[in-house]
Amino acid sequence: MSTASASLSIVTGRVLVVDDEPHMGTICAQTLRLDAHSVETTTDPLAALELLQRSHFDVLLTDISMPEMSGLELAHRAHLHQPALGVVMMTGYASYENMAAALRQGVADFLPKPFEMAQLRLTITRALQRQRLIHENVRLQSLVDLLEASQQFSASLDPTRISSAIVRAIQRVSGMNCVHVNLVEAGTLVDSGVAHDGVCMLADARIGVAEANGSGGERQAPNVIRFPLNAADEHVGEVVLATDHVAVQTRVLTAVVQMLANHGAVALHNARLYTARAELDHQKSEFITIASHELRTPLSIILGYSSMLRDKLVGQQSEYSDYVDQVVRAGLRINDIIDDLINVRHLDVGEAVTKFTEVSLQEVIDAAVEELRPLAAARGVRLDVRHQRRSLILRADREKLMMVFANLTANGIRFTRRGGSVTIVSGLQKPSHGGNLVVAVRDTGIGIPTHELRRIFDRFYQVAEARTREHGGVGLGLAIARGFVELHQGSIDVESEPGRGSLFVVTLPSYLLLPGATQAGVTDAAPGNSVTPRGGSDGR
Ligand code: ADP
Repeated sequence: MSTASASLSIVTGRVLVVDDEPHMGTICAQTLRLDAHSVETTTDPLAALELLQRSHFDVLLTDISMPEMSGLELAHRAHLHQPALGVVMMTGYASYENMAAALRQGVADFLPKPFEMAQLRLTITRALQRQRLIHENVRLQSLVDLLEASQQFSASLDPTRISSAIVRAIQRVSGMNCVHVNLVEAGTLVDSGVAHDGVCMLADARIGVAEANGSGGERQAPNVIRFPLNAADEHVGEVVLATDHVAVQTRVLTAVVQMLANHGAVALHNARLYTARAELDHQKSEFITIASHELRTPLSIILGYSSMLRDKLVGQQSEYSDYVDQVVRAGLRINDIIDDLINVRHLDVGEAVTKFTEVSLQEVIDAAVEELRPLAAARGVRLDVRHQRRSLILRADREKLMMVFANLTANGIRFTRRGGSVTIVSGLQKPSHGGNLVVAVRDTGIGIPTHELRRIFDRFYQVAEARTREHGGVGLGLAIARGFVELHQGSIDVESEPGRGSLFVVTLPSYLLLPGATQAGVTDAAPGNSVTPRGGSDGR
């Protein structure tokens, strides 16, 4: 057996046999059932059309000449309902004109009567095989359409636009008159108002909505098909197709429409997530504004009176001095947190104001580090600063740069064990590396697991290990630091190894350097040069 005939033999399908001679229908049906086809027969072409309206067939096997209606007329009307239907014509005489007319009606093959049963089996199998190839072709074309449609769906975050794109795409592939999208809102399906209505039929699609809501009443629309819009376990709606002629229910088409619906559902789901997130961001932003404002007033009273008390107690050997000191420190900490919240909000809404002046890189780093010496001393961490160039003057926002370096240094101290060290190195990259300004903050501390490195710059993110809790903080420092560096068109990179330490490198673009700042001199601070997180020997 040839490969072709072997593959032909496995094709089975639904066949409708129409012949006004009842014995002919019976013989054909029994023969075709031998090949496991599902077969229905009728002697009446009008009954055949009704069957075709009600259910799907792959092949119509019909006599060409019948008293009620010719086989050609039947083929023509059948194709109105099922365009993809294959037709095999049984002919008593096969004139050239007949054959030409039949081909125009999309007839796939002829069986000149009388025919052998083997010939019938082969012809039907061939017709089914042809159908399958056509379907495959349609499927491939549909995949191309699907890709295009999918791109259109995800080009928008507006549910109405996405629904319109879904309707257009499904209308195009199904060719159906009426396509309608209903969306789930607050747990109930509602009419999205997005539809393509040809001759019909919004009414039918609306029935679809009413039925789905359990208020459909008496009317049933006979040709309404629903495709659920489901994504990530969420039912976001449904697509309703309605038509006044039989639904085009080929398996391929149904699958393609469902695929389009699935892609559309994902886009709708994402749009919802986006809207929910935008709403949340808005609320958060409002909260931060109100809370920070409301906290500032009582806080300034606490800080004002406690500072006054502290001043009064200076020089007195009072046990209360220490308590008052603690209150002032706690108040200042709350103040820092409020500042962080406000800074993050300004960065978020693009309202961070920058004040660019001439800044000495060395001076700003020294100032940040000086403030942290008491913390380093208290925690037993050595603090070293090395400036490879002493005269680097740049245009920058001094306050913001100082916060960046202070934050990185403070983190280095907080996450390093007693006896360890934090080293800050500033300098210029080699011209071949871009000649940018580089500040590296290296510690010999606990390090950060690789999978956390990407997330530590996210707002409110802290590495999820109990040991970091004791360090305090609310997870905003690095988010703000990165935001401030980006306001200077720079970047922050991090390398780390748990148990061995971390290296944070701030790179600021060379064009911030003011004329006169020499490009000579090269730092080893840039990643890829000699500074690595493992460099320190102390503390371990
Ligand atoms: P926080 O104020 O909580 O320190 P940050 O945004 O400054 O917030 O840092 C986020 C998280 O990144 C920290 O909670 C810590 O888990 C981790 N981290 C930051 N810097 C270091 C460092 N030098 N060594 C180890 N972990 C660090």
